[in-house]
Amino acid sequence: MTAQALGLVDPTTRSIVPAVYPSATFERAPDGSYPGGHTYTRDQNPTYDPVESLLTRLEGGEGALLFSSGMAAATTVFETLDAGDHVVAPRQMYWTIQRWLEELAGRGRIVLDLVPNGDLTALEDVLRPGRTKIVWVETPANPTCAVTDLAATAAVAHAAGARVVADSTLSTPVLCRPIEHGADLVMHSATKQLNGHADVLAGALVTARRDELWERVTHDRGYRGAVLGPFEAWLLLRGMRTLFLRVPRSSASAQRIAEWLTTHPAVSEVLYPGLPSHPGHAVAERQMSGGFGMMLSFRVEGGGGAAKRVAAGLRLFKNATSLGGVESLVEHRAPVEGPGTGVPDDLLRLSVGIEVVEDLLADLEQALPCGSDASRGGSHETDA
Ligand code: PLP
Repeated sequence: MTAQALGLVDPTTRSIVPAVYPSATFERAPDGSYPGGHTYTRDQNPTYDPVESLLTRLEGGEGALLFSSGMAAATTVFETLDAGDHVVAPRQMYWTIQRWLEELAGRGRIVLDLVPNGDLTALEDVLRPGRTKIVWVETPANPTCAVTDLAATAAVAHAAGARVVADSTLSTPVLCRPIEHGADLVMHSATKQLNGHADVLAGALVTARRDELWERVTHDRGYRGAVLGPFEAWLLLRGMRTLFLRVPRSSASAQRIAEWLTTHPAVSEVLYPGLPSHPGHAVAERQMSGGFGMMLSFRVEGGGGAAKRVAAGLRLFKNATSLGGVESLVEHRAPVEGPGTGVPDDLLRLSVGIEVVEDLLADLEQALPCGSDASRGGSHETDA
């Protein structure tokens, strides 16, 4: 289904690869109708159609919309709210969305509570029945890999009349389908593993049902115009065709790397839900299948300076932000998030690509200090 992008064949040309439709506008018939089914690209474009249909099928939803970035998709959800609506979000989540929520709360647009990830008691305590409109979940969370039980969260949120929106960027529908666990909307930064080649900035929302919330989301995309360009939509579909090869491969490599890192003397902690020692392992095992994702983080003995030196010493892992591409990346995360971040300064985030895992392990081995250097958290030949 995904390899063939739903098996769609162009009815006129019999092309098995869909065309790109750069047209911003579409002709009316003499009676004023739109026989092609499209009016103007800010509302809909034929290049989006196969991508949105595929995402809908993959997530088991009733509709999907593409956006110009993951942030555009996320902020559109909050644009549907009325002034003073209450939002609950986790303490550990993709930091720009959290900063955005804090800014909205600071301007009095929403009321915001941040709760520890997966803490159902804390969630119940802050829920305001009738006023809480969105409970935001990100599982596993970037970059700490904190896990949230989607079904349990949905039960509590729904009892208070709130909707659950799941940022499922780190799972992709290959590993977890949040709608099956009760989520009302699924959000993706399609920039990451859905596209998989670090050459498109894109976002998506998938809905469990075509209800009033979805009408508001659709209306907002059409009015504010945070749509994806047709060329990017086409690239995204091409990237998605190999999703079911890339995700299991990088998840299996991430698992191997996480296990290897736990044995290294220069590593004080490994954060990966695939490790039985991870506090969210049992929940992740229940709601994910086929792996635990391409992202993992680890903490380096010796603090932020030591972590920075390891990042600088890696050669195969490129020292760059973002996730989910075919090439592996490393990022010293705390300085990126800046003051106020809860991410420890000694944490390095890895995005594991599809390279040979032994090569990735060898790269980590040469970059991490060993022996007495490791226990001192000391320097290393590639000191930056
Ligand atoms: N959600 C998660 C979990 C992310 O990691 C990111 C980006 O890193 C986003 C959302 C935002 O996506 P984008 O960069 O496509 O706007």
